[in-house]
Amino acid sequence: MLESSEMNFERPQNRTVSPEVIPNDAEEPDLNLRPKTLSEYIGQDKVKENMSVYIEAAKKRGEPLDHVLLYGPPGLGKTTLSAIIAHEMGVNIRITSGPAIEKPGDLAALLTNLSENDVLFIDEIHRLSRAIEEVLYPALEDYALDIIIGKGPSARSLRIDLPKFTLIGATTRAGQLTSPLRDRFGMLQRLELYTCEQLCDIIMRSAVILGIACDKAGAMELARRARGTPRIANRLLKRVRDFAEVIGNGRITEDIAKIALDRMEIDSLGLDNLDKRMLDMLIRGYNGGPVGLETLASAIGEESVTLEDVCEPFLMQLGFIARTPRGRCATALAYRHMGYEYTKDEKTDASQQTFFE
Ligand code: ADP
Repeated sequence: MLESSEMNFERPQNRTVSPEVIPNDAEEPDLNLRPKTLSEYIGQDKVKENMSVYIEAAKKRGEPLDHVLLYGPPGLGKTTLSAIIAHEMGVNIRITSGPAIEKPGDLAALLTNLSENDVLFIDEIHRLSRAIEEVLYPALEDYALDIIIGKGPSARSLRIDLPKFTLIGATTRAGQLTSPLRDRFGMLQRLELYTCEQLCDIIMRSAVILGIACDKAGAMELARRARGTPRIANRLLKRVRDFAEVIGNGRITEDIAKIALDRMEIDSLGLDNLDKRMLDMLIRGYNGGPVGLETLASAIGEESVTLEDVCEPFLMQLGFIARTPRGRCATALAYRHMGYEYTKDEKTDASQQTFFE
């Protein structure tokens, strides 16, 4: 027998609007969609300006760049930006992730294989184990590895010098990083969700690279529904191309984009079934909140981390959800978008500005 969560719901990792990498993305590696220089990287102006100053200064001194922590929701371009940083520095990048480094020896192997000034990129760095973090501290501070040989009273410590390198850590949850690790980053850069105009530029650029005919108005329609996330924007472009080829003449126009996205059940603001279930439960099940995230998640049969990482950043940016110390609340805007009447006092409703207004 199926469990209730299997019966009704599309699993979050297969959502077309998931900001994470989903299996279909892997079919068409979009490596050439990734911009290669800072000037090709669209948006995130503050981060770009800062990074270009730091890169220039480090290059002038002939030193590696200070360690960088990039944080923000998935799919915003953390890996892409790291590769660009390495490219602009004229060095190699090695890419790994927190869960992939299981033993201190795995990290030691990575570090000892770096060349001078190289970049080591660790995705999901908040998932490194404590034992690995301990190995990382001297590597970050003194470019050295302390290795313990033997056990018990005969154990001795051996120090191995490492090449100077830059660690770029990426995380969706900076709050989960231990403070000793966070303190060892010289730069903390937060990536923001993109505006529709920036996403439209990203879509037009990708369309040219992939050889897809796409009108500006069509790209704008995709951008409006891409939840502020380039990974989703590129994915929608590829899926809507299929519709354009089958129901149109191959060109993505505004009308084709609307028809395709409606059929994919992605609404005019980019909300899909999971977002709507969350809002619906919050409004109808808990009278608009406040309600704790765990309670809300179990009421709709989802994991709370999925709601927190995937649904909430975007719903908050839209001004649909407010986070209060007592839990999550639906705002008047969320009520209206979901077609419900808002009966509470609007003056007490903290966030009523939508991002798209
Ligand atoms: P993250 O590491 O934050 O999950 P990625 O770096 O893998 O995100 O980016 C996801 C996709 O979005 C990439 O394939 C890239 O093509 C595209 N992308 C991200 N940021 C930008 C940007 N600023 N300009 C153009 N394309 C981008």
